[in-house]
Amino acid sequence: MQFVVLLASLLGGDNVALAAGDHFSVYASTQSVADAVLQDAETAAKQISQELFGKDSQFELSRTIIYVRPGSDEDYGKSVLRSSKREANIVWLYTIDTLPEESTMRHELVHCALASRFRGKLPTFIHEGLAAKYDAGVRRRIQSQMVDKLARTKRWVALSELMKSEQFDLSDARQYATSMAFVQFLLSEGDQQKLFQFGVSGNTSRNWTSALADAYDIPSINNLEQRFHRWTRQHLIAARPNR
Ligand SMILES: [Zn+2]
Repeated sequence: MQFVVLLASLLGGDNVALAAGDHFSVYASTQSVADAVLQDAETAAKQISQELFGKDSQFELSRTIIYVRPGSDEDYGKSVLRSSKREANIVWLYTIDTLPEESTMRHELVHCALASRFRGKLPTFIHEGLAAKYDAGVRRRIQSQMVDKLARTKRWVALSELMKSEQFDLSDARQYATSMAFVQFLLSEGDQQKLFQFGVSGNTSRNWTSALADAYDIPSINNLEQRFHRWTRQHLIAARPNR
């Protein structure tokens, strides 16, 4: 009983409603919100999984628990992900009443899908770089402006630092924007499969130089950095009109 009261207050109401589906358990303060989020999550997760792993890939998602607290003045999501030690993904969604396609849920579901498959072996920059593609609304606009600014000023985060980072600082937009651009660059050099191979190999061996040579035939981190900067100048500035 105590737990239910505590959970209800965390969800911003007096009650706890649960909607459970094949892959998700959604807790919210009203049944209609829980049902709606469950339906949206099941559909979005299948679509995201196909986009990440290919149309013919088997859909797999570890049990994912979503707590929804609507009515916050900020659209914000946070995930505690499946790993070698944890069986389930847990997602908190603090959300304003946005359209489902504008909510941060899709961003968080990318993390859940990647964690279900790679169990903590994929580095943070690949997680965030791929999840950023699913950002919408205000978050998308802020990201795009930052990418544009960094491409012009060349003030990207150093890739050697970025690849090592395990936890990003939520207030550091440069880390997110650099990840987004870097993943886009890597996807211009090879397919998704190669990106995952590179990420898992570098992250588990901690030897990014050899992972880079194996996956992309790029001889050094310095060389990678030069190519990345050149690519961003060609593709991320030219593609946008001057402001
Ligand atoms: Zn994220």
